[in-house]
Amino acid sequence: MSIPEIAAKIRAGGRVDASDARALYLGAPTALLGRLADEIRARKHPGRTVTYIIDRNVNYTNVCVARCNFCAFYRPVGARDGYVLAFEEIFRKIDGTLAVGGEQLLLQGGHNPDLPLEWYEDLFRAVKARYPALRLHALSPPEVLHLSRLSRLPVGEVIGRLVAAGLDSIPGGGAEILVDRVRRLLNCHSKATADEWIGVMREAHVAGLRTTATMMYGSVETPEERLEHLFRLRALQDETGGFTAFIAWSYQPEHTELAGVEATAVEYLRTLATARIVLDSFDNLQASWVTQGGKVGQLSLAFGANDMGSVMIEENVVRAAGASYCMDEVEIVRNIEDAGFVARRRNMHYQILGEPFFRTVPVPRRFGLDVARTGDGFDEPAELAGYAARTRAARQRREAAAAPQATAGTRPEAPAPE
Ligand code: SF4
Repeated sequence: MSIPEIAAKIRAGGRVDASDARALYLGAPTALLGRLADEIRARKHPGRTVTYIIDRNVNYTNVCVARCNFCAFYRPVGARDGYVLAFEEIFRKIDGTLAVGGEQLLLQGGHNPDLPLEWYEDLFRAVKARYPALRLHALSPPEVLHLSRLSRLPVGEVIGRLVAAGLDSIPGGGAEILVDRVRRLLNCHSKATADEWIGVMREAHVAGLRTTATMMYGSVETPEERLEHLFRLRALQDETGGFTAFIAWSYQPEHTELAGVEATAVEYLRTLATARIVLDSFDNLQASWVTQGGKVGQLSLAFGANDMGSVMIEENVVRAAGASYCMDEVEIVRNIEDAGFVARRRNMHYQILGEPFFRTVPVPRRFGLDVARTGDGFDEPAELAGYAARTRAARQRREAAAAPQATAGTRPEAPAPE
């Protein structure tokens, strides 16, 4: 089919196949791609509303055994600048989130072999006991798989236990490109193959959880492999309907083992528009201002995005690889309204929560995102002394910490709600 024929098919509500998508992605003028994507956005969201969420992106540990070569965030076991956040530190971050109108915590971290499943369950229970209305959008599919392997329990059982402890939804991180050739080159094949990532999401959807889907493009994959990724997501969405949204971001090469160069803004906009066209069974596409900056983020609203993502408050992973954009709620709303849309706060399910929070309650401006930790040196939270560790270094640390006060292996009480 020619590009005009494919465009006519899309405008008539038809579905593109792999060959249509390839022809468009590689050959259509950028302006046409944008127009087609914008028309789909307008059909799906006719009220000119663009949404965003106020939540905080908390990375509970940077210690990770997966060692993806595109990641500048992780530290190996035993590193001096490795960290695990204490429950009390996480509570302080939640307090700060609630104060600026937030209603959700996005909680993700490294594959730390010294944090057993019980630590996550206790954390989730403690959070829910203290903040019953807060939503926990936590643990990407590779983290769930890591816990399944660590605990020797099936993925479905791990998800069930996490849900019983307070998990509300699962973020779509760790997808990178869902093609095993690419995953081997990125050294992320062993953390989760493409089938395993899809499998965790399928189990989550079957269990009734809603999740997001992501794509990190611009490292070593071909354009065809990006499209293969999109079609794998579309197939699962057709099967379960469990994805609430899709988010694409470009690989950030600074300080990574893989290195390389970052994709350009035009490549981002073409990828976003193509995703909007292919993912016709997805309701929502987010703009990735975190990797593209506010100006390209705003332009995304003309290339298929109907959501500006999260106010975020804190970010550690992308910043470690060189991107340090910040937009507080005032700035996100300014960008949405300046593009001719109506800005509305939402939750993870894309239900509208209301007007911008700062217009109802005075909130101090923020001109930089927080980080997980400001100090250096590994200081382990005292509460870890009661959890089983796998590495020798952690076992020794925990035994030393537990010796004066408790019998080793007796888990301390989770902090009581106030
Ligand atoms: S991307 Fe995630 S899993 Fe991979 S090394 Fe970084 S923290 Fe670990």
